[in-house]
Amino acid sequence: MASLTSGAYPPNLKAEEREALIETVKDWSIGNGLAVRPPPTVIAAEADPKAISAINVPVTLFPSPFPRQCFAQAKSVQKTYNELYASVSRDEQFLAQVVKEVEGGDDFIRNLWNVHQKVKAEGYTQPLSLGLFRSDYMVHQDTSTSTPSLQVKQVEFNTIAASFGGLSTYTSLLHNSIAEDALDLPENTTAHGLAAGIESAYHAYPKSELGHQKAVIFLVQGGERNVFDQRHLEYQIAKASPAIPVFRLPYADVLKHTTLADTAKRQLLYRLPRNPSKVYEVAVIYMRSGYDPSDYPGQEAWDARYHLERSHAIKCPTILTQLAGTKKVQQILTTPKTSSAPSALSKFIKDDTEDAAELWRSFTNIYPLDTSEAGLEARKKALDPQLCQSYVLKPQREGGGNNTYRGAIPAFLKSVPEAHWGSYILMELITPPPVQNIILRNGNLEQGGVICELGVYGTCLWDQSTGEVRRNEEAGFLLRTKGDKSEEGGVAAGFGCMDSCTLV
Ligand code: ADP
Ligand code: MG
Ligand code: MG
Repeated sequence: MASLTSGAYPPNLKAEEREALIETVKDWSIGNGLAVRPPPTVIAAEADPKAISAINVPVTLFPSPFPRQCFAQAKSVQKTYNELYASVSRDEQFLAQVVKEVEGGDDFIRNLWNVHQKVKAEGYTQPLSLGLFRSDYMVHQDTSTSTPSLQVKQVEFNTIAASFGGLSTYTSLLHNSIAEDALDLPENTTAHGLAAGIESAYHAYPKSELGHQKAVIFLVQGGERNVFDQRHLEYQIAKASPAIPVFRLPYADVLKHTTLADTAKRQLLYRLPRNPSKVYEVAVIYMRSGYDPSDYPGQEAWDARYHLERSHAIKCPTILTQLAGTKKVQQILTTPKTSSAPSALSKFIKDDTEDAAELWRSFTNIYPLDTSEAGLEARKKALDPQLCQSYVLKPQREGGGNNTYRGAIPAFLKSVPEAHWGSYILMELITPPPVQNIILRNGNLEQGGVICELGVYGTCLWDQSTGEVRRNEEAGFLLRTKGDKSEEGGVAAGFGCMDSCTLV
């Protein structure tokens, strides 16, 4: 596969130039909040008992080269993706079928579905739904045609807690501030774009009938290290719309600090912990938690999710939207039509349009592992010690660290009861062209081959009952980079790092 750059990239620096650059990146990062709370392996809890320290987020010293037409392709398809996922999340029957196929081996998905069922039985009171989405891609070199071309292929679509929008904006600014002018660095407006999505939902929520001030809640995990990423969105809202109150609420405190009004609408009321006589009506719940089973250590956490879901607040996301983001849904949507059946995608989007063609171009092969004909075929590949090398096996989980790669697939699958194999999907590995970069992580440099994953953000506000789309915007990008020896790419999980694009 051809390298993406000719000549020396990243540039060969002399030792003193390198030291000066590290100094610049370290200072710029802390000075501008391109930061995370340190993991205990970097600063031990005993050394920082009050948790006051912050370190710069792992970041590449240089923006990674990224093919211009791939970047444009990913950006231009985002609004179609927003519309598609809004549409999927409105199709309860379709999602019921998906849940049925995976719940046997997946209590978490079943529990989410049960919460939705309970709320549905009493009736949702809030028709509006907010999506802050992120569609992730890697570059794939298509050699199947006579003129080999580079295309982006979708890794996954995130509908809950899609992170790094705040930090990605600052990574682009960092690289811009230290770049030579020869580089083509696209502007990155993610923090602004995501904040504008939240603001639009806030404004769409009418004035409180109960006479309270409206507010936005960021629902967060306790002990979150990636806190500045979230804070940047909060600060952006404060800058653009200073009149909008924003509060951070740890998921574990939902039932302590919020109640539902005793009305048909069940407005969500938030009492300020430091002054409980001050009550706000929550217009928007922006979830940066609730996507991982560990967020639900017991029944109380599930009660809290039910409490939020049945409230009148606009949820980002609702449970249906969260479920629309599962890998199983992605597998079904990317499955082409057969001679006897239309594609699932055609249920949600007119499939003879250029928009639909763009979606299809961004798909890669994903297979079920159920007992269908395609599933049985995929099982053979997954269990074969040679064939499995081209695949990744995924459960219905978010947040990194849940997948099984290549040669580890057969043994893993055999460790799972066969009746539960349908809870997983098998996806072809995308193998992007090699790129070289230098990562600054915890003060140390790692130089070598890297793999880049582009995320494109989108915001969407729609009416779950009528289907009316009130807002549909593309909202900036993220480039995350990992060493080419690492399977997973999550920055928070500790393997990847922040990056930005120089278009080539
Ligand atoms: P999660 O929702 O946990 O982030 P992903 O589907 O994004 O799950 O997988 C995690 C990581 O695994 C990705 O960031 C990427 O580095 C790698 N990965 C996932 N799918 C593929 C694929 N088809 N080809 C290559 N790498 C992949
Ligand atoms: Mg994900
Ligand atoms: Mg991912």
